[in-house]
Amino acid sequence: MAENTDVVVIGGGYAGVMAANRLTQRDDVTVTLINPRPAFVERIRLHQLVGGSHDAVVDYAEILAGGVRLVVDTVTRIDPAERSVTLATSGTVGYDYLRPPARARPRGRPGKRWRRRQAGRAAADHRRRKGGPLPHRRHRQGRRHAQR
Ligand SMILES: Cc1cc2nc3c(=O)[nH]c(=O)nc-3n(C[C@H](O)[C@H](O)[C@H](O)COP(=O)(O)OP(=O)(O)OC[C@H]3O[C@@H](n4cnc5c(N)ncnc54)[C@H](O)[C@@H]3O)c2cc1C
Repeated sequence: MAENTDVVVIGGGYAGVMAANRLTQRDDVTVTLINPRPAFVERIRLHQLVGGSHDAVVDYAEILAGGVRLVVDTVTRIDPAERSVTLATSGTVGYDYLRPPARARPRGRPGKRWRRRQAGRAAADHRRRKGGPLPHRRHRQGRRHAQR
């Protein structure tokens, strides 16, 4: 018999719900979804909330697959060495695999991948504003040195 795998999904947004539901298709996986609110916020309906025509929330019971365990709490710390996440109010949850929220960012000094992504965003912003490619990095460094 296959060994069971505990998967923790942080964040019950569109991506987290999709991931959690898909994972329940496997018999050898136990899925825990952690989200700070007890209801799913339909962001794409938020304008309707403002207009008073929809409350822009759906009960998780309506959209989560039966096998997903929902924990209503906020993850405050991820401990990869211990394979556990710390919650704001209800202790820790262990995992074999973790699916962090897409926009999660490490505290402290950001890693290489995060810095590269930020550089990519800066380049895209620059192109949008100026309509051309970002000057080559070495060229920019040269200019900075020249200004000293
Ligand atoms: C006002 C508004 C209108 C939009 N309209 C559209 C639209 O019309 N069409 C479109 O395609 N897109 C739209 N978007 C964009 C769309 O909502 C996002 O692309 C989408 O929500 C991203 O999904 P996600 O699951 O990655 O993240 P999110 O939906 O942001 O979900 C992340 C979840 O993680 C939870 N979370 C975060 N940190 C923690 C933590 N530490 N512990 C536990 N849980 C945590 C959050 O509470 C949240 O529930 C809109 C966005 C906004 C804000």
